Amino acid sequence: MTESGSTDQECRACGLIDGSQALPGGTILRTPTWVVEHCVGPLGAGTLVVKPVRHVVHVADLTVAEADELGPLLRRVSAAVTATMDPEQVYVCLWSHAGAVPGHIHFVVQPALKDDLARHGAYGPALQTAMFDAGVLPDEKAVADVCDRLRVALGAD
Ligand SMILES: [Zn+2]
Repeated sequence: MTESGSTDQECRACGLIDGSQALPGGTILRTPTWVVEHCVGPLGAGTLVVKPVRHVVHVADLTVAEADELGPLLRRVSAAVTATMDPEQVYVCLWSHAGAVPGHIHFVVQPALKDDLARHGAYGPALQTAMFDAGVLPDEKAVADVCDRLRVALGAD
């Protein structure tokens, strides 16, 4: 163990980082302290997750180095999502409270697409709720394709 709390055996987010859990599309980008992956939930192809490599449960617990990287990285990832998906808006949010239990923080970077707004008749948090209620996971080929395009947009290929 290199730092306290660097991994958590029970944590799915850590498992996706260390490869012990399958990650459709693979790691998209890894910086010194953050990792970018495709979302494994039902928020559509092109929705990414930005999370610290270290098992961090509260934003307030980020190190200075982690915090320094965060703003520029969210901007960079949002720009790549915009360039790749041509959305109406890009939502960037963090809930990290599965089952009302605080978990490994992860910023969701989601393209809000016209088709999704029309299909669900919702936007903002209501769109995410509707997509979770529908529970439709994007197919793995679509995820793999969009991850390849996002790597190019990020200059990470
Ligand atoms: Zn974790």
